[in-house]
Amino acid sequence: MVGGFKNGLVVAEGLIAHGRGEAFDYLIGEKTTRPAKSAIKAAAAMLLLSKRPVISVNGNAAALCPKDFVQLAEITGAGIEVNLFYRTSERETAIKAELEKHGAKNVLGVGPRASAKIPELQSQRRRVDPDGIFIADTVLVPLEDGDRTEALVKMGKRVITVDLNPMSRTARKAHVTIVDNLVRAMPAMVKQARKLKGKNKKQLQKIVDDFDSKKNLSKSLKIIRRGM
Ligand code: ATP
Ligand code: MG
Repeated sequence: MVGGFKNGLVVAEGLIAHGRGEAFDYLIGEKTTRPAKSAIKAAAAMLLLSKRPVISVNGNAAALCPKDFVQLAEITGAGIEVNLFYRTSERETAIKAELEKHGAKNVLGVGPRASAKIPELQSQRRRVDPDGIFIADTVLVPLEDGDRTEALVKMGKRVITVDLNPMSRTARKAHVTIVDNLVRAMPAMVKQARKLKGKNKKQLQKIVDDFDSKKNLSKSLKIIRRGM
């Protein structure tokens, strides 16, 4: 993360958000919990079932696991979009380059491509790609801010997030919340997506239907309260 900060991927606010995440990671025992595993499975199934899935990548996400995003996009047929809370063209370009270094081919949401607007959000925070998040049916938004998650849900998107804080607004608003560290959750999601790719639609739909986000979040909260 400090490397990412020094080379322009991550902003200072991102470092602080990462620290918040780390505090919660201690509380869940710094491992992928059982509820996180079932959320990862539901998320992978949901992405595979979607017609136009998009993976949203911000500075922290690009610094932590760029390769996993590229792999997950390949397996699930998802688009990859640069989506920034603090948008500058330098940072857009740096994140795009980092993703391309790991094999991404068509990075959405950079420069003039981020021309559509999410209703209800202010200024730069609302910009998205008209060929990406704007028309997506499902979006994976790791480490997202609560206002933006809520706006995406209101637009009718199915929202998947990775957030170590089960009490954040994002965690509570998303349809599938994976309470786990992004660096563990992403490789696990890639693995799951590979495994589930051979299943038929009905089997995938059952995994999604059986997942109860509220129950799953309360299980993560219980783990935190009890200390494992
Ligand atoms: P919200 O806006 O959703 O109420 P917030 O304002 O606390 O939450 P943001 O900065 O908007 O947080 O979003 C960052 C979220 O990502 C935080 O909940 C933080 O705990 C979480 N987070 C930070 N680093 C990681 C990580 N490596 N893996 C998973 N989650 C992380
Ligand atoms: Mg916030």
